[in-house]
Amino acid sequence: MELALVTGASRGIGRATALLLAKKGYRVAVNYHQREADALSVVAEIQRQGGEAFAVQANIANEAQLMTLFQRLDAEDATLTVLVNNAGILFQQCRVEELTAARIQQVFATNVTGTFLCCREAVKRMGTHHGGKGGAIVNVSSAAARLGAAGEYVDYAASKGAMDTLTEGLSLEVAQQGIRVNGVRPGFIYTEMHADGGEPGRVDRVASAIPLGRGGQTEEIAEAIVWLASEAASYITGSIIDAAGGR
Ligand code: NDP
Repeated sequence: MELALVTGASRGIGRATALLLAKKGYRVAVNYHQREADALSVVAEIQRQGGEAFAVQANIANEAQLMTLFQRLDAEDATLTVLVNNAGILFQQCRVEELTAARIQQVFATNVTGTFLCCREAVKRMGTHHGGKGGAIVNVSSAAARLGAAGEYVDYAASKGAMDTLTEGLSLEVAQQGIRVNGVRPGFIYTEMHADGGEPGRVDRVASAIPLGRGGQTEEIAEAIVWLASEAASYITGSIIDAAGGR
């Protein structure tokens, strides 16, 4: 059986991605940071639908916890072939002139360093040069990487820009080792993340300015992620799909 790891799968886009991967026949590792009950409900939902999943706690910004997470995957009788780097954070909306070093470092520790380290560990397991069977990595970036998130969270937007560069560079490094690396840049999706920025109703506020005239649903992003991870996208690497309703 093939194993898929989705970081930050306890809710939001990660939850929808875990559910869809399970429907496609993967055993899914549902990573979460703090919300164990939410992660367990994702696992229960997958099992109710006849799929296989397990929850695994780890703060991906903490290298020791991340290594324990991958050791947990190694104990499975399934091969890791899909990594979805979905976990990401942002903080209260503010201007660059108000940012602190501590906040910038925290955002980058999760969104950039955590993603890099998950890629490192996945490549060691998937790469044919390491005796692996190959696989697919999908990095969940953001339209903010293109738009900049001015007046909201430029630190977060810049971290997503770094993720896009990782997608490009890593895709070239491992193209000969059976690993495809792609990204998805969601736009304004209905999740709890906007509350972390201090504006729970943010998606509805901007909806009329989105060409498709509405915010997006988590399932719509999961479709793009899972397609990139699938064999249907077998000739695609180093690509980033904008899933932002035209923004
Ligand atoms: P949510 O805030 O709804 O969920 C975040 C998820 O990430 C949770 O499962 C959370 O775990 C987990 N998480 C947070 N920090 C860590 C960490 N350090 N280690 C492990 N897991 C962590 O986010 P969304 O679903 O909205 O976003 C998912 C991804 O999509 C993010 O990368 C985000 O930047 C990106 N995105 C979202 C957009 C949107 O409009 N919603 C737009 C563009 C991009 P727990 O539940 O345990 O706290």
